[in-house]
Amino acid sequence: MPGKVLVVEPVDSVLDDILARHGILAERRMGLAREELLNAVAGYDAIVVRSHTRVDAALLEAGARGRLRVVARAGTGVDNIDVEAASRLGIRVVNVPGASTQSVAELTVALMIMAARRALEANLMLRRGEWCRPLGVELYGKRLLIVGFGRIGRRVAEIAKAVGMKVSAYDIADVEEEARARGVELVASLRDGLREADVVSLHVPLTPQTYHMINRNTLQEFKRGSILVNTARGKVIDTDAVLEALDGGILSAAALDVHESEPPTERELRLIRHPRVVATPHIGASTLEAQRRIAELVAAGIIRELGAAGRGGVGSG
Ligand code: NAD
Repeated sequence: MPGKVLVVEPVDSVLDDILARHGILAERRMGLAREELLNAVAGYDAIVVRSHTRVDAALLEAGARGRLRVVARAGTGVDNIDVEAASRLGIRVVNVPGASTQSVAELTVALMIMAARRALEANLMLRRGEWCRPLGVELYGKRLLIVGFGRIGRRVAEIAKAVGMKVSAYDIADVEEEARARGVELVASLRDGLREADVVSLHVPLTPQTYHMINRNTLQEFKRGSILVNTARGKVIDTDAVLEALDGGILSAAALDVHESEPPTERELRLIRHPRVVATPHIGASTLEAQRRIAELVAAGIIRELGAAGRGGVGSG
């Protein structure tokens, strides 16, 4: 199955090794300008992206004019890919849900603890030589609301339970069985959940329904002094509203791995630099283990899809 794959964002090199064993050449071309990418894409059977590259209809059409048959997203969400246009053009979309679940869940709980213990503030003062010990709170016995009880939300729930938190969840899908199995209480509405929660952790995909789900109105429902954690997608929260909620005392702290614009603009930086914000640059899946798993699964997906296309098959990815 000879073929050529364009890799435009960093992916573990095991991808290239596995593809090579199937006679497929991976060409790594990082930092391509949009025009260069539009010109290059038609020359490849598949393209591999992470979250930075916008795979819109124009890019897919440029690819479809040549040999492009597969778009592989080395990660969970496909919000940077125009899946509808891909399907219209007969281009398969491969993503690897689940490969980074444990990594994201671990980071979520780490951020939660850092926010509760004001660990970043303490660290910054200590670096300046100031011996000052801010008073934090324990997570034990506190109520955590998980918004989006999917793979990551469920894993966060399990870890939080082990820390002694009381866990509730809100989801639009029927997740009753998954909740019962983990001793998690389901809430009927987001508002009901927010009113009771000491910590709110977001694990929904970015969709038209979840865009700015945490906004000035929903923030009014939060318990005063609660903690907000977002390791889902930056656009699930309204950056300005969260900043106001921190200044107004609705939130005692926020922990953010994802941001409305990545890299952040001055708007996001105002929030990121807030003294009670712990922020990381979208490192949820940035572990050796997750990256290796992602690369292996992306390679398997490309081989599967190119094989299927070679046999004349086109279906949903
Ligand atoms: P998943 O599909 O397993 O779970 C998402 C859950 O959200 C589902 O149960 C779904 O029913 C629910 N949901 C969807 N719309 C909703 C809404 N409007 N209200 C309430 N619930 C809703 O996904 P996952 O693997 O758990 O990943 C969750 C999200 O985490 C991803 O979509 C991605 O945006 C994000 N993520 C971030 C990183 C990172 O590096 N920080 C890495 C991987 C994934």
